[in-house]
Amino acid sequence: MKILIFGGRVIDPANHIDGQYNILLENGKVAWIGRGVPDAEETIDASGMIVAPGFIDIHMHEDPVAEGKIRQCIFPMMLRQGVTTAVGGNCGGNVHDPVDYLNIVDRDGTAVNVALYAGHEYFRIAAGAEDIYGGATQKQQEAMAAAIRSALDAGCVGVSFGLRYVPGADKAEFFRAAQCCRESRKPIASHVRDDADAVFASIEELLEAGRAFGIPMQISHIGSMAGFGQMEAVLRQVDAACREGLDVTLDCYPYFAFSTRLGTPTYDPGWLRRYHCGYDVLEFCDGKYRGQRATEKTFHEVRTEFPECLTVCYVMQEADIRLAYRHPKVMLGSDGITDNGRGHPRCAGTFPRFLAEFVKKSDLTLYQAIEKMTAMPAKRLGFKNKGHLAVGADGDITIFDMETIQDKATFADPALPPAGIEYVLIGGETVLKHGRILRDTQGKSVRI
Ligand SMILES: [Zn+2]
Repeated sequence: MKILIFGGRVIDPANHIDGQYNILLENGKVAWIGRGVPDAEETIDASGMIVAPGFIDIHMHEDPVAEGKIRQCIFPMMLRQGVTTAVGGNCGGNVHDPVDYLNIVDRDGTAVNVALYAGHEYFRIAAGAEDIYGGATQKQQEAMAAAIRSALDAGCVGVSFGLRYVPGADKAEFFRAAQCCRESRKPIASHVRDDADAVFASIEELLEAGRAFGIPMQISHIGSMAGFGQMEAVLRQVDAACREGLDVTLDCYPYFAFSTRLGTPTYDPGWLRRYHCGYDVLEFCDGKYRGQRATEKTFHEVRTEFPECLTVCYVMQEADIRLAYRHPKVMLGSDGITDNGRGHPRCAGTFPRFLAEFVKKSDLTLYQAIEKMTAMPAKRLGFKNKGHLAVGADGDITIFDMETIQDKATFADPALPPAGIEYVLIGGETVLKHGRILRDTQGKSVRI
């Protein structure tokens, strides 16, 4: 099947391309790019639209597995945003053995391509260290490292950590797991140990691991770690690390409020002081107080009775998020996590919102924004055939209208699909047209 995409403005930052070109796809790959009009069986008129490599979400949380099947919920939400490859297993968590998960993706197909980190906490629990506040024994650490190494050998993109969620994992345990990336030079990604004014020491802990083992580092969702007035100083800390020769990049989601489960250590005693706020910054996303702001009474009641309840916490500073995106090492990542469509609107709105809120308001050029959604995550993860449109690249393409692009998901209605994503192709097949999903099983595993 030959598909010709013609008439659009092609922006491919990995190859320094920004201009009007036509693209021919054949056998699932980019076969030709130029100004001519080759024969094709199917054509897509992209006049007036932007043609970009399919977006890569470097930081999201994959759909759950039930009875051996992936319950697709967030993957279709990703596809509607123009994402063609989603990277799960972040913040130390996997919902299922990651290698088996990738095998299920290949067996059944998913709405988007899927890559996974090996999550430290997942393998910690598998090794028998179930108490998040307790340490792991030497034997458990050995078992954890062996399992992580075999997941890396089987194609996981790196090792992720959610040190915030496992206070019992000390520095030695963190280093033991990070060291698994030493030979492959795959990245470690971390939701670092602490945020707000304690973020600097937490980032230093990550940098020490990168320095010790010569491995690349990804600092996860920096907005919700340092978006409380610390961003400028954190970016200086990153600049100094880069000058020293360390390989550090970051991701950030384009909202001014964060989301996590109420029972996690984020809300352990001390959180009000840390964020200089009251209980009313917190909104329940689920349960009997869904949509309501917390009081001291409801906070403690729900934390005891329904600790899995997703919450939104309105404490981040807009200026910090805008500052983060202007930094050349910061890319986009959704941190999307959803319980059947409930949660934070970042699951359904991140990519269109990035274009509507940060390009249209001139924080970034369109070219820079596309680079942060394609070339940068591909480079970080070692994806050779994704994130660009050179001949031979995978036929993963997103076509959107910059006039109409807009996220629609809100905190009240977090699953609403965006406007302006006109076509998405995965593996050379059209899987979304004018916002409507045509096929939700074209995605394959991406293994490195
Ligand atoms: Zn996280």
